[in-house]
Amino acid sequence: MSDLLPESEAEAATASPLAVPAVQRLEPRDADVGGLKIRRVLPVRDRRVIGPWCFFDRYGPFTFDERNPVDVAPHPHMGLQTVSWLVDGAILHQDGLGYEGLVRPGELNLMTAGRGIAHAEATPRTQPGTLNGVQLWVALPDAHRQTAPAFQHHVDLPALELRGGIAKIIIGGLGGVVSPARTYSPMVGAELTVHRGERLHLPLDAGFEHGVLVLGGDATLEGERLDGDTLYYLGTDRAEVELTSVGGGRVMLIGGARFDDPVLMWWNFVARTSEEIDDARRDWVEHRRFAEVSAYRGPRVEAPRFTARATRPPHDRGRRV
Ligand code: MN
Repeated sequence: MSDLLPESEAEAATASPLAVPAVQRLEPRDADVGGLKIRRVLPVRDRRVIGPWCFFDRYGPFTFDERNPVDVAPHPHMGLQTVSWLVDGAILHQDGLGYEGLVRPGELNLMTAGRGIAHAEATPRTQPGTLNGVQLWVALPDAHRQTAPAFQHHVDLPALELRGGIAKIIIGGLGGVVSPARTYSPMVGAELTVHRGERLHLPLDAGFEHGVLVLGGDATLEGERLDGDTLYYLGTDRAEVELTSVGGGRVMLIGGARFDDPVLMWWNFVARTSEEIDDARRDWVEHRRFAEVSAYRGPRVEAPRFTARATRPPHDRGRRV
């Protein structure tokens, strides 16, 4: 079973508890989601989770001529929340609870899978011709893994105005500002804007571990110029972080309290044991548990084969959508 479980926390301990941990660049990998070439920045070889964040896809910017360039048919999720955040474009969400709605830049689509939900995601029929965004997953803690599925669309998200920039609080809290989005463990997800030629001092929860990713423009963190679309792990014990930008930058911040429950990921499921994965897969195949996405026209996604004996990390098997 050990190869199905996350590596024990392997990062080197800092020499002194007062030392600020080194910034760790996490090498992204290319992946394919519904025919789109995307960058998977979490999980990667050197890191499986940051707080409860267990999955982070960066996609775009794309420009399209086709009428319907993205069309991901109904597929199931379990044990997680999906966080959809756009820089540009629009995505239509349809789920088995009957929710159907567009998410646009600056808005949050938050789907709590809990014990199980199915949804479809597509560019809307009238689509702006561009798409640029992120999709992240938050692992649910043991006490809430079996919660009822839910969907929330948040248009009005609070912001923390700081000298040198702004932090829009997507989920969780930062500097005393808290998003209305439902959370199940201590965490933060925020979009930072660093103004051109400015220095942003961002307050952080020193009990959290954090990561940052440049979505656009340029940003330098404590003297290190950050590559775009690349996740940098900041470790824990930071009460603040300093970002500067020459021409202006947009940066995604994720963080949270260390997530101690073991996270087993396969396809679109987050679980603890291979038996749970196998049960969920069978329920999808046999049309149980996951309410049908009746608004979607067309066949749903078929489950890949699952074998509990993992010869490589389970998150690499099957195509995740
Ligand atoms: Mn999905």
